Amino acid sequence: MELIQKAPAKINLSLDALFQHRDGAHEWEMVMTSVDLADYVRIKPSRTITVATDSGFLPEDPRNLAYQAALALQTAAGMRQGAAIQLEKHIPVAAGLGGGSSDAAAVLRGLNELWDLHWPLARLAQVGLAVDSDVPYCVYSQTALVQGRGDQVTPLNQRPDCWVILAKPSISVSTASILRAIDYTRPMPRPDTAKVVEGVKSGDFELMTAGMANSLEAVTAARHPEILALQQRLLRYGAAVAQMSGSGPTVFGLCRKRSRAHRIYNSMKGFCREVYLVRPLQ
Ligand code: ATP
Repeated sequence: MELIQKAPAKINLSLDALFQHRDGAHEWEMVMTSVDLADYVRIKPSRTITVATDSGFLPEDPRNLAYQAALALQTAAGMRQGAAIQLEKHIPVAAGLGGGSSDAAAVLRGLNELWDLHWPLARLAQVGLAVDSDVPYCVYSQTALVQGRGDQVTPLNQRPDCWVILAKPSISVSTASILRAIDYTRPMPRPDTAKVVEGVKSGDFELMTAGMANSLEAVTAARHPEILALQQRLLRYGAAVAQMSGSGPTVFGLCRKRSRAHRIYNSMKGFCREVYLVRPLQ
């Protein structure tokens, strides 16, 4: 028996860093959506937990977020069985697209099935929070407002109707180092989250894009100016909005029309090796 779970990439339509808790965790307010660029997670019964990947450089031991998710669920559910987990990677690593978190969430959903746990998604999300703050969202992997430490996920039951052009500069960004560099005493770009939520819910693309911003953009772009250059290019080629996802470095542009999206995608390919044309998932 083998189970296959799709682990889609996420983008942050908005990301607001509100403050830092005493224990170091950040308080977030974000609107996320998942797109049709995905890893595939294959899970088979096994006595122990093992992780293998086709990436060539990702750890295949307890440092892998997929392994951590399996161990967390095994412990929480008091299971004695393990699982053999195979990751087929397509999402760029350390890109701001939540690939590791999505793999971890897919493991939770898959093991919930394999081990006949029948836990609701909310309970899996709770287990996933210990692995990474993006895992609770990824357990749902549908457009949602995410608050708190990443643990409060409110699905919006609507997806933005648009095309997404992802452009990943050939640098990797350590999320931890970007989070350490946030300075709450200084002004930073802030989204209007209510506008983004309302825009998504009512299918009003202009309202949604009017509220979009990412608080971390200035921090990452100060270290990697190519982020701003890619943003400017996306806008010049006709994207309605261009923004960094998560802690970066991937930048995405949004537009409504398919023909325009293809044009932007083709033009961006001349400047950036890793470009993807995707849509928010149903
Ligand atoms: P986020 O947007 O949630 O910060 P990200 O897209 O920037 O995530 P990931 O691709 O999730 O970053 O990986 C971040 C780090 O996690 C990498 O340094 C990588 O070595 C480690 N990692 C552990 N497990 C995985 C996994 N299954 N897939 C990708 N990275 C993993």
